Amino acid sequence: MSAEEATEAIAAGGPGSVEDGLRRAWERIGRACQAAGRTPDDVRMLLAAKQQPVAAIRAAIAAGGRLIGENRVQELVTKGPELADLRHEAHVIGPLQSNKINAALRWADCVETVDSLVLAQRLAARVGGRAGGLGVMIQVNTSAEASKSGVSPARAAELAHQVAALGALRLDGFMTVGLNSDDAAAVGRSYAALRAIRDQVAASGAPGTATAVELSMGMSGDLEIAIAEGATIVRLGTAVFGPRS
Ligand SMILES: *Cc1c(COP(=O)(O)O)cnc(C)c1O
Repeated sequence: MSAEEATEAIAAGGPGSVEDGLRRAWERIGRACQAAGRTPDDVRMLLAAKQQPVAAIRAAIAAGGRLIGENRVQELVTKGPELADLRHEAHVIGPLQSNKINAALRWADCVETVDSLVLAQRLAARVGGRAGGLGVMIQVNTSAEASKSGVSPARAAELAHQVAALGALRLDGFMTVGLNSDDAAAVGRSYAALRAIRDQVAASGAPGTATAVELSMGMSGDLEIAIAEGATIVRLGTAVFGPRS
């Protein structure tokens, strides 16, 4: 849905509500797109739903949210059945352990956090006839912080090509948790690095890379910087749901 439709759909919520948070977030996205000379239709909002109760997530979907992200497979599994009647798409946005792959496959439409060929191979081996296939993104550690997951930028394009060549997974694009810093220029460089990797992979024309268009980057604190650098998905938690406990 467009930002305009979403804004209409959520006109009902009062200040402090999830609906209000969603509306404000759409407004920020709209302004950021305008400043960057981009159309808001090219940027989707992913609701980072960690620690959020089902009621809040249902309210967000009812108000026009379509993309839900969970860090922990356990939360995906417990909330999945309670969201199954609502049209939405679920993404894994946290580290995925091998013993959670089957559970993730049951509920996730996309795993944004593929950072090794081994993980991709394990997903490919089990994806089977999953309806709609499985989307994956390559998570890249663009800020080179030791605490962050993701393949190094130097190895990202190679991994993307290897994953695309598996054939069993649909390579949707690239994801990063950018640099956590007040230095906007440095944050922007970490996002520009992800875009450069995507552009390099797309330009290769290699089998399976034509679908790799997404750049999942930017959170509540820095979505404007990410959109300026080409984000197609911004992942928002606190901006929509308020502070986590
Ligand atoms: C929690 C989380 C977000 C959202 O963070 P906010 O600052 O609350 O918007 C985005 N991406 C990932 C991977 C997260 O874990």
